[in-house]
Amino acid sequence: MKALVFDFGGTIDTGGIHWFEKFWSLYSSIGIVIDRTVFREAFKYSEQQMSLIDSRKSSFVETYTRKISFQVEYLKKQDMLSLIDDVPQFSQNFAKLCRSDVEKQIKSIKELLSDLHGQFKIVLVSNYYGNLQIICREFGIEKYFDHFIDSTLVGIRKPDPAIFKLALSKAKIHAKDAFVIGDSYGNDITPAHSLGCKTVWLKVKGWQDDSDRSFADHTISELEELRFIVCSDIKSSENSN
Ligand SMILES: [Mg+2]
Repeated sequence: MKALVFDFGGTIDTGGIHWFEKFWSLYSSIGIVIDRTVFREAFKYSEQQMSLIDSRKSSFVETYTRKISFQVEYLKKQDMLSLIDDVPQFSQNFAKLCRSDVEKQIKSIKELLSDLHGQFKIVLVSNYYGNLQIICREFGIEKYFDHFIDSTLVGIRKPDPAIFKLALSKAKIHAKDAFVIGDSYGNDITPAHSLGCKTVWLKVKGWQDDSDRSFADHTISELEELRFIVCSDIKSSENSN
């Protein structure tokens, strides 16, 4: 059996839109327009702060409420968002808005995950906060994954190829029999390619402008395209046997 190794953030939860872009457009949707350069720094600050706190038992809304309050805290220091008085309440409401967006996205790929789960081992590999499996349970997709590799729990972060190596050994799969699917060229495609995995780059709205795509065996703009890629791969390996 072959395996599909998915990234979570920016891939499963947003369909290819990096969380920097997702947050920025959600802020815009409620009338908060933030300078992109400043927001990029706020985003980095919140991710740094998140790495310092324990989120292993946190729900999606709890996790995102914290992330957003760090962003707001940073932006307030830059004399932005001065109209937001009640930061905890704002952050929680905004986290709920993020949650409803993610819920819609995940709902739209449940059938795909269910279909693929019958044909492949499926592994999730993510730079996350220790609660990757809890979050998948919350959104009703835990059952489609055979293994969860959460950077916080295993102590290895992408782009270190060792995190993908660990995923392959847990799933008892050779690199050549695995497709790695992710939205980040640097964090997903490059390390997976270095191990000899096949790579599928979900390229929609990334963090960086990645013009080099030589390590991506396939480039897709929506996850549904996987049906054709993995089916044609199964057919071609049947023909070669
Ligand atoms: Mg990602």
